[in-house]
Amino acid sequence: MKDKYYLTTAIPYANADPHIGFALEILYTDVMARYQRLLGKDVYFLTGTDEHGQKMLKTAKELNRSVEDFSAEKSARFLKLADEWNISNNDFIRTTEDRHMKSAQEFWKKSLESGDIYKKSYTGLYCVGCESFKLETDLVDGKCPDHHTVPELLSEENYFFKLSKYQEPLEFFFEKNPEFVYPEHRFKEMKNILKNGLEDVSVSRVKEKLPWGVPVPDDDNQVMYVWFDALTNYITALGWGSAQSELFKKYWPADAHVIGKEINRFHSLLWPAMLMSAGVDLPKQIAVHGWITVDGKKMSKSVGNVIDPLELVQKYPLEAVRYFLMREIQFDNDGDFSYSKFEERYGADLANGLGNLTNRILVMIEKYCDSVVPETNEVNQEMIDYLGNVYVDYKNSMDLWRFDRALESVWKFISYCDQMISDKQPWAMMKAGKEAEVKDLLHHLAEGLRHIAVMIWPIMPETSEKILNQLGLEFGAELAKPLSELQNWVQLIVGSKIQKPEQLFPRLNQ
Ligand SMILES: [Zn+2]
Repeated sequence: MKDKYYLTTAIPYANADPHIGFALEILYTDVMARYQRLLGKDVYFLTGTDEHGQKMLKTAKELNRSVEDFSAEKSARFLKLADEWNISNNDFIRTTEDRHMKSAQEFWKKSLESGDIYKKSYTGLYCVGCESFKLETDLVDGKCPDHHTVPELLSEENYFFKLSKYQEPLEFFFEKNPEFVYPEHRFKEMKNILKNGLEDVSVSRVKEKLPWGVPVPDDDNQVMYVWFDALTNYITALGWGSAQSELFKKYWPADAHVIGKEINRFHSLLWPAMLMSAGVDLPKQIAVHGWITVDGKKMSKSVGNVIDPLELVQKYPLEAVRYFLMREIQFDNDGDFSYSKFEERYGADLANGLGNLTNRILVMIEKYCDSVVPETNEVNQEMIDYLGNVYVDYKNSMDLWRFDRALESVWKFISYCDQMISDKQPWAMMKAGKEAEVKDLLHHLAEGLRHIAVMIWPIMPETSEKILNQLGLEFGAELAKPLSELQNWVQLIVGSKIQKPEQLFPRLNQ
């Protein structure tokens, strides 16, 4: 049986159109999902939208819309993003769906049975933007540091979750699982929060103030507070609940929850505690990515530098956008987007790099080998060794979410192949009548190109498949071979007809 790999994005709050930061997140997740498939795993990839809560209700009201229609429309924008960015998710969950709401209520009951949910009156500073109560120490100049608004003083009788009870179990769990939160500096931040002690958290709101949420079981006056509702999507989508679900049995625990740094504490502290409380296994990893800036500045409407991810892929080829983001924005830190850098990389790495190499090789096969992949009589050990190292770097980097570094090693190999052509000068060899040697060379270059296509598949699936097709190969099961059996120099199909060479990355229209 195949190993399984279950991964999720966070579910973005769907009261606005998709943000480039989320596009980046879903892309990171997609690249990992495709990479795991390349390794031969049975992958399940979940994304979706978070739709309950005060902000959603408020935005809908401001627009004079029904909250149901408004959230459905916004959720559809995220589905469109997944579609237009060629995201390979298996499921898309909305927290307004019955399957989620029923299962979230089951979860509540389990936690209640464990004695972890209790009612108390609470007065606190509430940030509507965050949908959460704030401590004085969380504020900067009396304002929420994320929303720059003064939180309102709110008094309510709410249900609370005994997060404090999980202080020690979490400490123990963190110790036993030194790679639970990735990267390490994000784990450190969580350990520091834990060290300062955990307080119980409010997990419901009074229904008359907030009618838009999952009803608390057996209490008509309360709805679940957003996080307690939203976080459970990772298991409700798998059908967790009273009936034993095959999907849940097969895929849980998650191998990775991919999230932004601003919601790390909810995923690394609250979510594990909730799962312990309900008696559900914990996820294996919380993978935390950074934020994206534009031309070195934080994106904001007032600065006018907001990038709409749906517009971006209308303006530029999707495959190039996927390449650029994965090459330029390092997973474990903040990164910067700029159109000038994009166009620079498009020209240097794609048009002149990968595109040009592919074209040169194919044109020479067309010209010198009658458009047929030539055979070889020699083993090019130096190239095999070089490629072996590239695969090791590639795999180590991919495993650590460092897609930037993985691409860097693939591009080193692209330069290596370019260098082979410059050194050997096949056109001169042809003139000197060394036809057999030219065929050897072109055979090895075609092999190299095939391996490049395999390695870029998670990042640029369409380009990868185009290259393989041009080489007369089908994208198929044999793709799993080079990574699982690194030492195998998988043969091309000698004698297969190549396609007419075409430019993979035409000049951008300015
Ligand atoms: Zn806030």
